Amino acid sequence: MSHTYETKIAEAIGTLQELVGAKALKVTLAFSHQSEDAITISLAQKAGIDFDVFTLETHKLFPESHAYQKEIETFFGVRVDAFSASSKAIMELEEKVGEYGIFDDIDLRKECCHVRKILPLMQALKGYDGWISGIRSAQSITRSDTKLVEYDAKFELLKFNPIAHFSDEEVERYMRECGIPKNSLYDKGFKSIGCKPCTRAIGEGEDIRAGRWWWENPEHKECGLHLHKN
Ligand code: SF4
Repeated sequence: MSHTYETKIAEAIGTLQELVGAKALKVTLAFSHQSEDAITISLAQKAGIDFDVFTLETHKLFPESHAYQKEIETFFGVRVDAFSASSKAIMELEEKVGEYGIFDDIDLRKECCHVRKILPLMQALKGYDGWISGIRSAQSITRSDTKLVEYDAKFELLKFNPIAHFSDEEVERYMRECGIPKNSLYDKGFKSIGCKPCTRAIGEGEDIRAGRWWWENPEHKECGLHLHKN
């Protein structure tokens, strides 16, 4: 199948229908306040599959992202369940990392991601056969080998990436054509959205993920949720 915009959509819907719907798999979809996640919700609804939606409450999110979450719940008629590390784990982390530790030491940055993201993700995925994510191969060097369907060895379940092969332009086009609301941070120069301390707006021509953990080398720029081999 040649990969036009239309065939990518058909392939995404077909994959969800054949590998999730027809097999009655129990799946949950990751919502991280970005256009990609809204598109995967839209595609999953078009595929007619049953799915839950979750988000990771890191306690470091932008207010705009919280507002967008409510907007998306209303737009799609879904409920987004928030998962968070315990207050004790967050308190211990804050004592250890302090205000600037994540910028000074990559191990502390990774520990912050582990406590605020990985631990809640483990809770969010518990009891499911698979999860659906909005990651794309075009987003960064660390995601270049993303496939439509993968076995997630780290969390031991299937992982569906319906828009793995969407370009940046195709994301924009899908949002526009389906009239899906966008996180207002995009209008403020953000191209990839995450926690407030680790995300900044970027300039014209900069790489889409350049605003995430901008003080680190590109090959380190992941939080451990989506790991590929490169
Ligand atoms: S993205 Fe930044 S604030 Fe968020 S969990 Fe990772 S290190 Fe912590």
